Amino acid sequence: MFSLLSVVNARTIDTLARWFRANARTLPWRGPIGAPRDPWAVLVSETMLQQTQVARVLERFPRFIRRFPTAQSLAAAPDHDVLAEWAGMGYYRRARNLHAAARMIVDRFDGAVPRTVEDLLALPGVGRYTAGAVASIAFGDVAPIVDGNVARVLLRVHGRKARVDDRETQRFLWEQAANLAAAGAKGRQGAGVVNEAIMELGATVCLPAPAMPRCEECPLARWCVARRAGAQARIPLPRAAANKKTVYCASAVVVDSRGRVLLEQRGDGGMWAGLWQTPTIERTDRAPTRAELARAAGIAARQLHACGGFTHTTTHREVEFRVYAGAAKPVRERGRWVAPGRLGELGLSSAQRRVLSIGAGVLRTPTRSR
Ligand code: SF4
Repeated sequence: MFSLLSVVNARTIDTLARWFRANARTLPWRGPIGAPRDPWAVLVSETMLQQTQVARVLERFPRFIRRFPTAQSLAAAPDHDVLAEWAGMGYYRRARNLHAAARMIVDRFDGAVPRTVEDLLALPGVGRYTAGAVASIAFGDVAPIVDGNVARVLLRVHGRKARVDDRETQRFLWEQAANLAAAGAKGRQGAGVVNEAIMELGATVCLPAPAMPRCEECPLARWCVARRAGAQARIPLPRAAANKKTVYCASAVVVDSRGRVLLEQRGDGGMWAGLWQTPTIERTDRAPTRAELARAAGIAARQLHACGGFTHTTTHREVEFRVYAGAAKPVRERGRWVAPGRLGELGLSSAQRRVLSIGAGVLRTPTRSR
């Protein structure tokens, strides 16, 4: 069967690695290409990068790794500290899993990140991609990786018009990625460098539609079937459209006479598990009313002013927020009154930060109830 390796040999692997050494972005979790890497920092950065843009991870990673430089330090931290340090990156389940993984590393692996894919897969939240990334990048293990960037490059080089999420395509991609890692390990470059090189190529040159790939800068251009056929923009095929669920939320920004904001903590399951929020109720059939929200917030409905709304989009949901605000006495026993200067110490989702900013604006300029 045609494969990248049937036209790409050790010389091509060297070309790809040379391109990477010359063009790799300077990233705080990376260091000099090919130099030994801290496995804990690799695990943390790869976890963050799973569903968050590099630009946002660039903002958050240095502070997180300073605060939790080892698995032991994260394992010993309370939940709320971990969630607060994760704030702004979304998908908080990853923070909870990383926290649990740190505890398992301490309990089962004497505090050292495990070296093999098999052991890494035992850690909470670590899937095939992350296990392969840590094993190959931190330990030089011959482990393949396939993420969205790798998949796009491989499908285009092979000229394969397929959807990335198709089962047969996944089998093909992992097989090709395993060949690449093996070729990297066999040559001078090492599996980790080749794996990172192909990810970097996808992230910076072989860009997804609608941006066009910059084929003239690509070290694989001469072997690329999609380029020869002018089919880059048609590969890969679009994923099947997901049926997003709509959720309706109403949130109340309630402030007391000292300017403190009423917050409550979400339960352990579901969306935004364990994070802090303004009193919020949600429904799936219709938007909650102001009266319902007022009851949940423990204040009179006439004290709540409607002040706007927005749509928060996640992978599987469209969350329609309506925001209300009001000044009230702290009569409510549930929840916590928090000074504005201390909000940063609590884990808040980006949606709730938006709720707070909308509500705070209205409280500074009171409006009539609508
Ligand atoms: S030649 Fe173009 S389409 Fe092919 S791998 Fe390189 S950047 Fe992607």
